[in-house]
Amino acid sequence: SIRLKDELNRVESLLKAAEIHCVIQQEQPLKNIALLVENILSMCLKEGVNNVVKHSGATECIITIEQFEKETVLTISDDGMFKTNKQQELPGYGLIGLKERLEFVNGYLQLDTNDGTTLKIIVPTDAR
Ligand code: ATP
Ligand code: MG
Repeated sequence: SIRLKDELNRVESLLKAAEIHCVIQQEQPLKNIALLVENILSMCLKEGVNNVVKHSGATECIITIEQFEKETVLTISDDGMFKTNKQQELPGYGLIGLKERLEFVNGYLQLDTNDGTTLKIIVPTDAR
């Protein structure tokens, strides 16, 4: 199982190696988060940053973790270009896999590709 703090360290070095400036915004560590939920957030972080490195051509990636009363939100945003692949009918399996895992904890994701790419992962704060 992967703790979020460890995955943050890993993606930070991955971005550094790819020469993408990395900003991590987290005011305080997550409180009372279930280990399963933390593992799923870690996987989302890993896949989201892998996508930034593989597809975006970005110069900057901003990772934000916010915990509200009802929802915990992980945001991975880059200043690159979202790539739509016209040859493949289906999107890759990375984002689909995340959607499936998030469903286990009543979470969901939002993808905004208007200005760079922003992937938002939302899970209920009390999910167990
Ligand atoms: P896999 O994750 O299975 O290795 P993948 O990365 O291609 O394959 P997804 O993670 O599901 O698949 O992403 C789907 C597609 O969306 C990508 O192939 C790419 O075209 C586009 N994409 C996703 N994230 C980004 C991003 N940050 N910047 C640019 N394009 C992106
Ligand atoms: Mg992927």
